[in-house]
Amino acid sequence: ALQVGIVGLPNVGKSTLFNAITNSKVEAANYPFATIEPNVGVVEVPDKRLDQLQTIFGSKKRIATTIEFVDIAGLIAGASKGEGLGNAFLANIRETNAICQVVRCFDNKDITHVEGSVDPIRDIEIINLELMLADEASIKKRLERLASKMRANDKLAKFEHDVLVKCQEHLTKNLLLNSLTLNEEEMKILSGFQLLTSKPFIYVVNVNDDEIAMDNDYVKQVQAYAQKQGFAVVKISAKIEEDLSEADAEERDAFLHELGAEQTGLEALIQAAYQTLGLQTYFTAGPQEAHSWQFKKGMSAPQAAGIIHTDFERGFIKADIYNVKDLLALGSEKAVKENGKMRLEGKQYIMQDGDVCFFKFNV
Ligand code: GDP
Repeated sequence: ALQVGIVGLPNVGKSTLFNAITNSKVEAANYPFATIEPNVGVVEVPDKRLDQLQTIFGSKKRIATTIEFVDIAGLIAGASKGEGLGNAFLANIRETNAICQVVRCFDNKDITHVEGSVDPIRDIEIINLELMLADEASIKKRLERLASKMRANDKLAKFEHDVLVKCQEHLTKNLLLNSLTLNEEEMKILSGFQLLTSKPFIYVVNVNDDEIAMDNDYVKQVQAYAQKQGFAVVKISAKIEEDLSEADAEERDAFLHELGAEQTGLEALIQAAYQTLGLQTYFTAGPQEAHSWQFKKGMSAPQAAGIIHTDFERGFIKADIYNVKDLLALGSEKAVKENGKMRLEGKQYIMQDGDVCFFKFNV
């Protein structure tokens, strides 16, 4: 499953947010393959369309696609030089597909700030600097290993060397690798290294519960900063999220109504993560199960089928596909067929968000 790593300075609200994540944990029985480790929280990707599908099909079970959040402790100033938990966090964070940075945007005299004051941009830059230093160290190590191959005039080694030097120069300018433009081949080389700043970022601004309905100055600063980098900002109050995650459905709805919010901050974060990861959703549905599945934008029908089972990709023949929008508008699969909205698609078909699929395959 795709993973989002949660980082941030101490006392910014990471654990509070992570509690909210683990409280809203998915029903384990539905997700037998989910890795349940203490620092990993599996959450369902909220999608009203799945509930609507379940109603229309009368499916016994509803299984939502998930993403995982990983609590990455120990990232403080100097971590790349071994301060705090130092390099221990690096192994955890390397495996993740995106980095979610929690930023303190609340004043509270009783909660110490490790840097002595609340200053979100300074905090972000402390974290980003550590991530850049970690990347510089990884690149340096790799370049040293490449040296002998370079001497042997190995073409691939030369190419890899050039890509890494390009990255190194970018980092020297104090820039994150996710802002470096690379061609497809260069990206392929880089994807093997799991460099931290080459992953997409999401900034989570954590505010006091009485400031959730507005954007305080701290929040505005982060918004302006993130906009330049092209990354999402999600505003939450970690405390509210923790309370919401402990409430039952009725209390929760009443609470959200009171806040004038349509969804929880956690739901907004999950959706932002989903988008940041370039994911879209397709569905399968029948009397037994309504199921949402995530796929990378641009995937072909056989690749998307392979997400359910690798045999589905190998033996893919064709698929009956219609968009969930047509089903919702027409009310039944029968009506979708009668109105000519169900299409037979082959191997070349590029999947679209909201497709409802019935795959046909050879075993
Ligand atoms: P971490 O070190 O980043 O994991 O931070 P914690 O989640 O442990 O939070 C540090 C302290 O800040 C705790 O006492 C939390 O209750 C408090 N805290 C977290 N979020 C908020 C918030 O939105 N507003 C206020 N006032 N306090 C918060």
